[in-house]
Amino acid sequence: MRILVISDVHSNLAALDAVLLDAGQWDMTWCLGDVIGYGPQPNECIERLRAMPHVCVVGNHDLASVGRIDTSLFNPDAKAAALWTARQLTARNRAFIEQLPERYAEGDVTLVHGSPRHPVWEYVTSCSIADANWGHFETKYCLVGHSHVPIMYHKGSASRCEETAPDVGRRQSLSPHTIVNPGGVGQPRDADPRASYALLDLPDAVIEFRRVDYDVGRTQELMRKAGLPPRLASRLSIGW
Ligand code: ZN
Repeated sequence: MRILVISDVHSNLAALDAVLLDAGQWDMTWCLGDVIGYGPQPNECIERLRAMPHVCVVGNHDLASVGRIDTSLFNPDAKAAALWTARQLTARNRAFIEQLPERYAEGDVTLVHGSPRHPVWEYVTSCSIADANWGHFETKYCLVGHSHVPIMYHKGSASRCEETAPDVGRRQSLSPHTIVNPGGVGQPRDADPRASYALLDLPDAVIEFRRVDYDVGRTQELMRKAGLPPRLASRLSIGW
C-alpha cells in the first residue's frame, strides 16, 4: 500500500494541489494535522482532503479555528489568521475538523500532529525531545508534523538517538524506532519554499521525501485580498 503523507497544509491550496499532482498514484492519504490556519483557502483544502481516502489527526491550528483552544496562546498573526479562518469555515467543514482525533495508529505506524507524548503542542525538534517520546508510542514508527521541517529521529544501537535530514527524492528503508516528520506542505520552515511531503510504502516501510514547487505568488495574492497578516504571506517566499 502506498501512503501519501502530508502535514501542515495550512489552507494553502496551491501547495496542496502541487503535491497531489507530483505524488502520482497512491492508495491512502495520511494527514498529520493543521489542514487550516495561516492561509487563504481553508474550505477548499478540507474539501480536497475529504474527497480522497484519508486519515487525519488534529493540529493546534485546526483546534484554534473551531474554538477548541484559546487563541491567546498564539502569536498575534497566527491568532488573526485563526479568527479569520473560523469565520470562513462552512458548517460541514467545521464539523469535519471537530471530529478529528488527536492520535491514530494502524499497523506499524502512529500518527500525531506534535509528538506522541503531547499530540497537539509539543515539537519534536531534537534528540533530547525524541528521547522523551520513545515510550509514548507502541508501533515501530511514528509520523509527526507541527515543526514544518522534514527530519527523522531514530533510536539506534545502545539507545543512542540519531537525527537525519532527509535525502530528498531517494527511497530509503525505515528502521524500527523512528520518528518521521515529512515537513510542511503549505508553510515550509526549513529555508526552502517548496512544498514538502513524503510517500510511504507499507508494510515494507520504504519512504521517499519529496519537494515540489508551487505558485507561491498565487497564495500570497489570495492572502492579501483576504486581509490576512502580510508577514504570513511574505514568509512563504523564503520558506520560513
Ligand atoms: Zn503547522
